[in-house]
Amino acid sequence: MKIASFDDYRIGLVEGDQLYDVTAVVPFALDAMPQQRLNWLIANWGQVLPRLQACRQESKPQRLDGVRLLPANPHPSHVFAAPANYQKHIGELGDRVVTKGGRSAREQGFFLKAPGSLVGAGGTIYLPKGSTRRFDHESELAVIIGKAGRDVPRERAMEYVFGYSCLIDATMRIEPGIAEEERSMRKSFEGFTPLGPWIVTADEVSKPYGLTNRLWVNDELRQEASTADMIVGVAELIELISSVLPLTPGDVIATGTPEGVGPFVVGDKLRIAIQEIGEMSISVRERDMAAPRPY
Ligand code: MN
Repeated sequence: MKIASFDDYRIGLVEGDQLYDVTAVVPFALDAMPQQRLNWLIANWGQVLPRLQACRQESKPQRLDGVRLLPANPHPSHVFAAPANYQKHIGELGDRVVTKGGRSAREQGFFLKAPGSLVGAGGTIYLPKGSTRRFDHESELAVIIGKAGRDVPRERAMEYVFGYSCLIDATMRIEPGIAEEERSMRKSFEGFTPLGPWIVTADEVSKPYGLTNRLWVNDELRQEASTADMIVGVAELIELISSVLPLTPGDVIATGTPEGVGPFVVGDKLRIAIQEIGEMSISVRERDMAAPRPY
């Protein structure tokens, strides 16, 4: 199933270029906090599935291009992210990274991106007004967690995967010796975490370790690699994160970027496509407002 969040946090099933509104399966109590509907759906997936099918049958299809897609999960408790998780990416940015030589996600663990930086398909990455800094794209497979878990061994970790999505980990690079801000902040500007266009449930992804991941900037192919090249795989990432804190249904894991990372500027159009998951385009704009503290 392809599950999309759209308009005012409604939930839809995507089939081809059609969308079926199934928001009615979520309790009315959640109308008071609609951004939590998807977390509820994921947490209650097993028991809600029969009603979801019935709701889909009763729902009239609408055109997918007539709705505004939100982040595949608009309000996850956590957005975990793996640094340095593809061999060919390690080293390609020279001294513009904070990763110590040769260390991968296995040694470094995870970092966090702010959930407030999420944006959906067709959305916008906002660069700080007047910035002269370098901003890069990172094309990543996102994992959506299906159930609560703590100390999950890698042998059982895939039971905790609800589905997958496409994620762009947009990043402001450090200027060595001049400005070396914390990684989480540099990756959490408004719109810096496009996630979408939807969640594909795990049962429909035949080989999460062998998916082609591509990213274009203005139709120029910049990144093309297989998730098979990941150093720390999905199962080991779940083991690693759940060794630190409890996983929550709806949590997002950005699994790291392959090689080909490079800059984008105001006016660019980014497009990410991951095999068996989907594709989406994202605009890059400059903010209208000058922030009181510029970057
Ligand atoms: Mn990344």
